[in-house]
Amino acid sequence: MNYTNSPIHEVVFNKQKYFIKRDDLLNSDFSGNKARKFYYYLINDFPDIKKVVSHGSSQSNAMYSLSVLCKLKNWQFDYYVDHTASFLKENPIGNYKYAIKNGMNIIEGNLPDFFDKEILFINEGGALVQASHGIEVLANEIKLWVNQNNIKDIKVFLPSGTGTTALFLQKYLPFEVLTCPCVGNEEYLKKQFEVLEKKNHPLILKIDKKYHFAKLYKEFYEIHNNLLTQTNIEFDLLYDSLGWICFENFVKQLKEANTTFLYIHQGGIIGNESMYDRYKHKYPLI
Ligand SMILES: *Cc1c(COP(=O)(O)O)cnc(C)c1O
Repeated sequence: MNYTNSPIHEVVFNKQKYFIKRDDLLNSDFSGNKARKFYYYLINDFPDIKKVVSHGSSQSNAMYSLSVLCKLKNWQFDYYVDHTASFLKENPIGNYKYAIKNGMNIIEGNLPDFFDKEILFINEGGALVQASHGIEVLANEIKLWVNQNNIKDIKVFLPSGTGTTALFLQKYLPFEVLTCPCVGNEEYLKKQFEVLEKKNHPLILKIDKKYHFAKLYKEFYEIHNNLLTQTNIEFDLLYDSLGWICFENFVKQLKEANTTFLYIHQGGIIGNESMYDRYKHKYPLI
């Protein structure tokens, strides 16, 4: 199975040319930036490990990807959540549904204080130094493409949650990486960067409006649908909608004719399943 070397596709969106790094196509089960972040665990052997322990929300993309990793590795998977909504337990959907199918053991409560050596602990959202290995592979694929196509001026954009992917991408790329905060505000994202690396941070684009993670916004649904119609590519509704709003704004203001724009598609499509239900309910006429 191949978990690297995703294609780069050219698209036109609202009359502007973009290139899309299709990490959503890496592998049907193990895709997106979580496949990059957990690549280190996939390709190396961990003879002592029997179980992965992680934590976060009950609809997280990282949770689903870890369930795939654990299945491939034959590891048990304990996932701690504060709370799972009863409607989700009764009607499993999206990441939650497929992670349970993969054998995830979901536990409501606090993480244990102590882990023995058979346990691999993965921080929420995969914010860990080990993620740098797979993201370096991603950076090398981009560098190769830039050289082969003789591109002189390029801006790379990807939306951030924990900021881990954007940070390590900037670490390994010799050109500018741009991002926007989708989970917390700009301050939160800066702090996340600081924890992993002291210098060489990606440029954080400004957002005009305050958005709350996982809430529904009409403009998110609209840009998602416009992207789907114009490019034939399905993007994630949690990160990519805001990402495209920010990036398109930036590109419009730049007015540099010779710049190549590369957007990193970080997967997360399984998570759309539950979001579509919510959006259709809230905006039935769109
Ligand atoms: C996890 C995820 C992100 C955020 O990645 P970070 O490395 O935490 O910034 C962005 N987009 C999608 C689709 C994701 O699944």
